[in-house]
Amino acid sequence: MPSSRLCSISVDLDEIPNYSAIHGLPEMSGPGANAVYEVGLGRLSDWSSARQFPLTLFAIGADMARRESAQRLRRMIERGHEIANHSLDHLYDLTKKSPEEQARQVQVAITVLEGATGSRPYGFRAPGYAVTDGLYEVLRESGVSYDSSVFPCPSYYGAKAVAMGWIVARGRSSKSILDQPNVLRAPRRPYRIGRPYWRRGAGMLELPIGVTPTLRLPFIGTAITMAGPDRARWLAKRFVREPFVNLELHGIDVLDASDGLSLLAPHQPDVRIPFANKLDALDAVVDVLTRAGFSFVRLDEAARNFA
Ligand SMILES: [Zn+2]
Repeated sequence: MPSSRLCSISVDLDEIPNYSAIHGLPEMSGPGANAVYEVGLGRLSDWSSARQFPLTLFAIGADMARRESAQRLRRMIERGHEIANHSLDHLYDLTKKSPEEQARQVQVAITVLEGATGSRPYGFRAPGYAVTDGLYEVLRESGVSYDSSVFPCPSYYGAKAVAMGWIVARGRSSKSILDQPNVLRAPRRPYRIGRPYWRRGAGMLELPIGVTPTLRLPFIGTAITMAGPDRARWLAKRFVREPFVNLELHGIDVLDASDGLSLLAPHQPDVRIPFANKLDALDAVVDVLTRAGFSFVRLDEAARNFA
């Protein structure tokens, strides 16, 4: 195992119709509807081979029904990237479903993703970062070896609360739900969950999504691409003394309005930023972390290191 500090870059492959659902927009059709798999995966593959780091790809089981998407994902796995479980249907209210339905959403996704790619997913990330003690119990029973859903970020929580209020105020209904604010008390660094899950214990290994030390600013793709290279570099430098950086991106972070997403652009400012500019900001982060001596590993490798 690499002994130095570790950085993992993971990508949630939420396909475009999930974003229409968040904004309460009608379901999208046309080429943009599959842009994450059709355009995004190729860009992620080029970026990761140019900069020589592996990716962990959190895929939604139901997206494997589209044969071309499954084939593209399989090719990524053959290139050494990790596949992980982003649930079967990406239900934003997964934690409100019955234990049986939660188990089905976790377990059928494992079967479907393994069938589609030939590689069994061992990691899990919940839709919309929402977890509960009950969902962790389901993950344990399903043989999941690590979770990476906890996002202890007050500004994200505040922004999400405001955004959802705004969507509802304009007469649309969002499919998104708000997590318990208790998640904000969770550790920033990898930990074994206790009961409740935001306390330390002896349970499942949790690899929380990146927030900066002290201020707990979000260190995720949208924040980085919206910040631009200079501020992205400043954010990345907050981490140079950390043992682990868990950088979470979404497929949409490598797409823009010209990829068939013009319908989303009025609702999502990040979609209006050209891909080339997003890549500059993401590259700036990789530069800072590389110079600081971080080794880039998949989340399953990071999980073994912190187990
Ligand atoms: Zn997602």
